[in-house]
Order: sequence, then C-alpha cells, then structure tokens
Amino acid sequence: MIYADNAATTKMSKTAIAAMLPYLDGDFGNASSLYGFGQRAKEALENARQTVADCLHADVKGIYFTGGGSEADNQALESAAMIGARKGKKHIVSTKFEHHAILHKLDQLKSRGYEVTLVDVHEDGIVRPEEIAAAIREDTCLVTVMFANNEIGTIQPIAEIGAICRERGVLFHTDAVQAAGHIEIDVEAMNIDMLSLSGHKFHGPKGIGVLYAKKGIRLENIIYGGAQERGKRAGTENIPAIVGLATALSENIAHMQENTEKLTHLRDKLIAGLSEIPHSILNGDAVRRLPSNVHFCFEGIEGESLLLLLDAHGICASSGSACTSGSLDPSHVMLAIGRPHEIAHGSLRLSLGEDFTEEMAEEVIASVKEVVSYLRGMSPVWRNLCEGKTQFLLK
Ligand SMILES: *Cc1c(COP(=O)(O)O)cnc(C)c1O
Repeated sequence: MIYADNAATTKMSKTAIAAMLPYLDGDFGNASSLYGFGQRAKEALENARQTVADCLHADVKGIYFTGGGSEADNQALESAAMIGARKGKKHIVSTKFEHHAILHKLDQLKSRGYEVTLVDVHEDGIVRPEEIAAAIREDTCLVTVMFANNEIGTIQPIAEIGAICRERGVLFHTDAVQAAGHIEIDVEAMNIDMLSLSGHKFHGPKGIGVLYAKKGIRLENIIYGGAQERGKRAGTENIPAIVGLATALSENIAHMQENTEKLTHLRDKLIAGLSEIPHSILNGDAVRRLPSNVHFCFEGIEGESLLLLLDAHGICASSGSACTSGSLDPSHVMLAIGRPHEIAHGSLRLSLGEDFTEEMAEEVIASVKEVVSYLRGMSPVWRNLCEGKTQFLLK
C-alpha cells in the first residue's frame, strides 16, 4: 500500500508510541492528585507543555492542551469573539478557504450577531496581506487566517498578516494544523496571538491538540468542569496523548530540514510527472506550498472514481474536497481559487509522508496516468470535449 493522505492523518511515530507507553501502563496516575504517583503524570504534562512551547518559540504559560485541532480553533474564535463583545467590536476577518472548524464556527458567531468578512483567495491559493488590511475595520476584533491550506497546501504570508494585525491592534489567530511540525513557526517573530495545532497531523495521536494564546488574552471555556489547564479546559488530562503529541512534534522539528529537502524533491517529481497528463492543472502556487502537497484537477474526470480506482491500485489518496464527506458540492477551496464546478470535481490530493520514496512517486505517476486515461475513455463528457461539442477549460 502507498499511503499518500498525510493531510488527513498520519501514522504514529514509533518514538512517540514508546514515549506514551509508560503513561498507558504503569504511570497511569491522575495529574491532579497530590500523592507522588500522580505527580509523575503532572511532571510529564509540564515537560510536554515546555516542549511544545519551545517548538513554537512561545511562552510556556500560553500553551493549553485541547481535544484536537477543531476544539482549539473553536476556543480561539469563541475567546476572541467574547473579548471583542466586551469592547463593542463584533466584526471578524477571515478567508474563503479556511478549514470547516473555522468556517462553521464563524457561521455560529454570525447567528449570534457577529459580522464576518471572508477575504478572497487568489488563483495561486495565496491570500494577499493588503486585502486583509483593507478588510480590517474599527470594530474588527479578530483576524483568523490559516497557516497552510489543508487541500492545496499553499503557505500563507503569516508574518506579514501578523505585522498588519499588530499595527492595527487586532487579535490574530492562525489555524496551523497543517503547518505545525512541517514548516517553521515562530509565534513571537510572526506576531501570532493565538494558534491551533493537532497531534495527528504530525505523527502524534488523534484527539489531542494545542491552543496557544499570548499572555493577556482571556480564554473562554468550551468545556466547563474541573480546573485543569489553568481553568480553561476541564477534564482529566490525557497524559499519554499529550506526551505523544509533544514527542512527535519535537521529533518532526528535529528532522525538518532533511524532510523538507527530501519531500520537496519528491513533490516536484510528482508535479512534473502528473503535469504531462493533458488537460490537467496544478492547484496552488508551485513553490509556496507544503513540501508534502501535490494537488491537481483533471478535466473530464470524477474525483471519486479516480480515488476508487487508485485504491484498487493500492494507493490511498484524497480529493481533498467535501465530496468525501458525502456532499456532492465541489470543494469550497477549489471554488475559492476560481476553479469552475466541472473542473473542481476532478481533483486529486496527494499528501506525502516522510517515508515516501522515489519508487512510490514513479508508481503513483504511472497509476494516475493509467486511471485518468481509462476513466476518460469511458466518459461521455470527455467524448463531447474531444468531438468539440463542448469546450475544454484546461490546456
Ligand atoms: C485536520 C485539520 C483540523 C482539525 O483537526 P482535528 O484534530 O482533526 O480536529 C483543523 N484545521 C486544519 C487545517 C486541519 O487540517
């Protein structure tokens, strides 16, 4: 099997599993207990918090463990919204291609009287800082822009947007779930006030995430109960998962340079190979993208059929779109970068892991070429295009 869906989730790191095991087994204590045994868990918790802080160049007091990336996103937006409300500011700036954890929470805030401006994403999959600046108003309480897009992998100008927000005195949050552990993040240098990340996107466990909030930001609870996480996230701490997240994050960062070089080479090999398919297009900027992300649209193809046939070839990939979650609407990310519906449906996302090889890249290129021409061969839509009854949209 070739697993090329690391943007959806990743295989756990062996190092992280080994680091977690003692806390699943002998050291199962509750970090809130007073006896020495529970304190071992407490120590593991605080060491993990320090590790995560170091990985983000953040103050350790700003690190809160959550039940995942979605929860961290929700808590960040809820907190900024309530801070804004206390000052009479109820306007939020975001973008059209955020993850649904952001977009659906923004919908909920709209239903509570907040106004939301979603800034356009250009065809290259990059948001322009000056357009974010132009969207900020007197009553803006938050700007939230993702660090790297989960479908097309494009990396956003986070430091520039952070500088604008700092200058204008507006809180800045970034959903860094796809970026953390894969590309450089420095919350201080980039003027990031709040940031979300998730363990299972960098070889840590699922169901554990982090919300970073700069000193002075008052967080709102999503989960009420005990006083864990300085009263901001109730519930007995999931020590094994927290230790696994911190171990996987620091391991990934320790190998970031070599992984980046290796993956960038394989990514570009895949892009070159798949570009040979006629009437196809690479989505997102070719350079300002995650080293692991390859995303194409093929004209005259249904993304779902492509994925099913690739599965039959032993390749796990994704369309990167909402189609996979049972909806027939094309991906909001494809529409945000201006792909027409007909094209948006024929998309393929390959997200590589660090164990991806040259041979795998060659096999994937050959399989995609074969499957695309097979599907086109049976497609009435394709026949119409070839016979000139309808116009090709892609070169
Ligand atoms: C996966 C993902 C999330 C959600 O994280 P979970 O831990 O699965 O809840 C949020 N944002 C982005 C960009 C993601 O890729």
